[in-house]
Amino acid sequence: MAGKLSEASFTLHGAGVFGGIAIGHAHLISSARFEVGHYEIAEDGIAGELQRFDAAIEQVRSELRGLHANVPASAPAEMGAFLDLHLMILADSNLSVVPRTLIQSRRCNAEWALVQQMEAIAAQFDEIEDPYLRERKNDIEQVAERVLKAMPGKAPETLPSPAREHDLIVVAHDLSPADMILFKQHEFAGFVTDLGGVTSHTAIVARSLAIPAIVGMHNARAMICENELLIIDGREGVLIVNPNQQVLDQFRRRRDLIEAERLKLRSLRSRRAATLDGQVVALQANIELPQDVELAREAGATGIGLFRSEFLFLNRASLPEEDEQFEAYRQVVKAMEGMPVTIRTLDLGADKVLAGSAPQAPNPALGLRAIRYCLAEPQIFQTQLRALLRASCSGRIRLLIPMLAHAHEIDQTLAAIAQTKAELDERGIPYDRSIQVGGMIEIPAAALSLGYFVRKLDFLSIGTNDLIQYTLAIDRNDDAVAHLYDPLHPAVLQLIAQTITAANKAGKAVAVCGEMAGDLDATRLLLGLGLREFSMHPAQLLTVKREVLGTNLASATAMAKRIMRTHDPRKRGRLLDTLCHQADGAALVAGVVV
Ligand code: PEP
Ligand code: MG
Repeated sequence: MAGKLSEASFTLHGAGVFGGIAIGHAHLISSARFEVGHYEIAEDGIAGELQRFDAAIEQVRSELRGLHANVPASAPAEMGAFLDLHLMILADSNLSVVPRTLIQSRRCNAEWALVQQMEAIAAQFDEIEDPYLRERKNDIEQVAERVLKAMPGKAPETLPSPAREHDLIVVAHDLSPADMILFKQHEFAGFVTDLGGVTSHTAIVARSLAIPAIVGMHNARAMICENELLIIDGREGVLIVNPNQQVLDQFRRRRDLIEAERLKLRSLRSRRAATLDGQVVALQANIELPQDVELAREAGATGIGLFRSEFLFLNRASLPEEDEQFEAYRQVVKAMEGMPVTIRTLDLGADKVLAGSAPQAPNPALGLRAIRYCLAEPQIFQTQLRALLRASCSGRIRLLIPMLAHAHEIDQTLAAIAQTKAELDERGIPYDRSIQVGGMIEIPAAALSLGYFVRKLDFLSIGTNDLIQYTLAIDRNDDAVAHLYDPLHPAVLQLIAQTITAANKAGKAVAVCGEMAGDLDATRLLLGLGLREFSMHPAQLLTVKREVLGTNLASATAMAKRIMRTHDPRKRGRLLDTLCHQADGAALVAGVVV
């Protein structure tokens, strides 16, 4: 914690996730599991706060001892050892004494003191090379969680009242995608996190909230105090803490200008997306939850290009039943009124994990994720397929399969779908008999063996977030290598270009549904490479439409060819720059200055 040392102004830098300016007061939070109130206690309240803390430690000690005494004789030996370990952690001064010092010296409430100390220890464990020892971090978190639950007396509400939310900027060390999805129920002014890359799922959900946000700030949470005044410049990735009046006024003016521009853009909502030379382009929306469909409609999306269905499975103790899933899919399809709705089958694993699931794999991004997980868990997969097929009667559902790499994965998936159809036929349950099945191209191996993909599947969708991650060997969640994450790397562009060409040649639809689809620096290049379907966050859709409306496709195609032939990075960069900034007419579109 940074104590209330000074009101000095300072600036921090990170990677902008969503543009715009947010001005508000800092609200420090931990991961939702450790979400606690942060408040300063009065001088005469310190003794009482220490008592509250000690009582919780004592209660957990007696709980653990009680559990230990009652371990059944038939229980595995590890059970006793596990409880011993937790008792040891509890007795360690790092957990039972240091938080007391924080309460005394910094006057933080007991919950806050405990969580801060736990996070400090957890960060040290993250540095440990040995995977077994590193895993012990989970034990420390479990003990801390127990102590938090045992804390007597009512702490203030963990989240502020909705009336204050629009004035608050959430400051966190790290948030999981599951934490972030909970924030969809709130209306915060902005977000900053210490960890994370711009295409991590946490950032993706933050972007879908359409509020200024920055990730990869490194030390923001430690340097900022609760309630300090903050300005986020989401486009530049800059956070200003305790701005002076002049800076504040300047950013308020910029915020008003951006808002005015956003309102102007709305006039493009019902305009058909076509290039200057008349090529129509489909601009669809990415959603995480059924309620996001409202934003997609507001932005004038012509379909849902990616519904990340796994978000229905997070933040809950048990999996959603078939009927619950069916209702969720049907709700989206109905709301889209006949427009295509592409629902991706479960992409669980890596950073999106089910509550209470097994400990992380050694390298989760390369582990049992997405279709690999579904094929290994046929019951979960079949339940989802049944729900999807049943919902397909209510509109135009397309099934999208994530993380395909092998021909046998395609075969197995198609066989699972055929089996589900046969089961529904047997039970006389209707479904869309011509439902299309597509595959995500997000592993280089898929982009390099497209023949089988276009032969077996009805459409392709390029997941650039993972395609870039796996091509460049850059963990998309790791801000330490975020500077190497380059969507315009020649190898990435080569894979994208050949996927688009192969699909177009085979007469199969192809889209880009990764973050690159909403990146204005890539719009014209993708159009020039032959892409006609883009799927992105609703909040990005109108700016991309403005870019499409201002593009001369013939010159974009010629320029894209030149770019793909150019190997000199500087020359290539210049050509890309020229392509992006050609004043083809975008400046005239809707009177909005680009
Ligand atoms: C992608 O990888 O580009 C993609 C769209 O899927 P996700 O971001 O959910 O992994
Ligand atoms: Mg992906």
